[in-house]
Amino acid sequence: MKKNDFILIGIILVLAVSFIGYHFLKGKDESAEVVITVDGKAYGTYDLAADQTININGTNTLVIQDGQADMKDADCPDKLCVHQKAISRDGESIICLPNKIVVTIEGGKKSELDAVAK
Ligand SMILES: [Zn+2]
Repeated sequence: MKKNDFILIGIILVLAVSFIGYHFLKGKDESAEVVITVDGKAYGTYDLAADQTININGTNTLVIQDGQADMKDADCPDKLCVHQKAISRDGESIICLPNKIVVTIEGGKKSELDAVAK
């Protein structure tokens, strides 16, 4: 290999590292929050980036893991909230009608659809 090849590889490495670093920092800025309301009142706000299990009023269990919030368990009869998909994007929500619980994602990455719409 010639000297120029090493320089080229070096430049590519620097670019790759700064690219990854940029996205890492950007991701931190856009860290989303999980906002829980019960019966229309604020119950709590949680960091979507921190893995945790939240017991809501002893009726619902919300698990935050890998940047997603998922209703794992609930005592409501229909279990519709448990069957809802895990949420991770701004504006997405899980609703438990019988227990009047609403879990919403605020902030963070906008969905592709929003970017096109705006
Ligand atoms: Zn439910």
